[in-house]
Amino acid sequence: MPSAYSIFIDFDGTVTENDVGYELFKRFTNSGTEPLVEKYRTGEINSYQCLSGECEIWNACKPSPADIDRFLEAQPVRRGFGQFDYYLHSLNINPIILSEGFDFYIDKFLSHHGLSHLARITNRADYENGRLNPSFPYFGAGCGVCSNCKGYHINKLRPPKMCAIFIGDGHSDRHASRAADIVFARSYLGEIMTKSGAAFVPFDDFAEIMMKMENMFSDGIFAIGERLAFVYFSPRHHDSFRELWGCAEVMKFVGYPNGLGWSSRRYDRHFADMECRTDAIFLAIEDKAGLFLGEAKISFPDRDGCCHHDLKLFPRFWDKSVGFEAWRMILERAGARWPDAKAVVTPSIDNERAIGLYQKLGFQFSGDIETWEPPKEIANAIPVQYRKMVRHQN
Ligand SMILES: [Mg+2]
Ligand SMILES: [Zn+2]
Repeated sequence: MPSAYSIFIDFDGTVTENDVGYELFKRFTNSGTEPLVEKYRTGEINSYQCLSGECEIWNACKPSPADIDRFLEAQPVRRGFGQFDYYLHSLNINPIILSEGFDFYIDKFLSHHGLSHLARITNRADYENGRLNPSFPYFGAGCGVCSNCKGYHINKLRPPKMCAIFIGDGHSDRHASRAADIVFARSYLGEIMTKSGAAFVPFDDFAEIMMKMENMFSDGIFAIGERLAFVYFSPRHHDSFRELWGCAEVMKFVGYPNGLGWSSRRYDRHFADMECRTDAIFLAIEDKAGLFLGEAKISFPDRDGCCHHDLKLFPRFWDKSVGFEAWRMILERAGARWPDAKAVVTPSIDNERAIGLYQKLGFQFSGDIETWEPPKEIANAIPVQYRKMVRHQN
């Protein structure tokens, strides 16, 4: 289901084989910009300060426009990008390039390689007689640190039900890597994500990405964790879902001590309803071999800014820290979409295992014990005493 995906791609060192912006400034300032770039990479200055400073050094050097053009024309595209672009086009997916680089060299590169049709959001620099006059149209809107925050753009452009895929390589991709649901990373970005323990898909070129993406699309992958994958709920999960909701042990703490007890027709109605719902993302949880472990629901915030997510796992996976990882994935994916929302759960006061897990995830009790009374027409349900627990995102 390719229509469920938005794709965002870094430019320098991702679409391009080399880090063109970095090499360009380095070369035409005789490495004069190196100390600034080093300060940026170690976090001493932000990208806005780095890029503004680089332009000043550049202008003092007055490079020749003809030399710059020659340099840019010699820059290769990363292997497989042309086919990748064609592949996405055939699926009706329009990827967006997100870059903290400047339009004057990005546009020239894309046009030279017949890629001018690609959408891009970049910093700008008027370029006249070798002089650069930079402007940063998105600096004020983003995180306040990045000159053109890629995380900001992903959050703004991805419809919440869609999976955002980001492909990148560098320091300026950090916020994108948190906002995106699936990340393809190489080089510095791969190192940063490895250090922070975040899951990503490594790559060398676009032939590799295309192959992996084809599999993700056909499986309906929504997010990838360390050992788990969230997969868009689809008919291939119906039988497992019935088994899960029919399981007494799974349902006893939500008021159904003998399982849900629905008829096949009732389940079918429910599945049809899940497909139409616009206020939640319904996901199957699978291990890396594709085994169904349970289901996750990422809920959109309600009027009070509360997200009522849900997670159900077969009991045989309860004690294998699957629950912790799955909940972390739910909270991260929701947190990326709605940074100001709260997550709310209502565990039965008898469900000590769940309460312990929620506490470990940062949920805190809110209010007193309350009772859920099942409606009279539901014969097989019993009252549940529960307590509300709340966790503020991020
Ligand atoms: Mg890059
Ligand atoms: Zn940012």
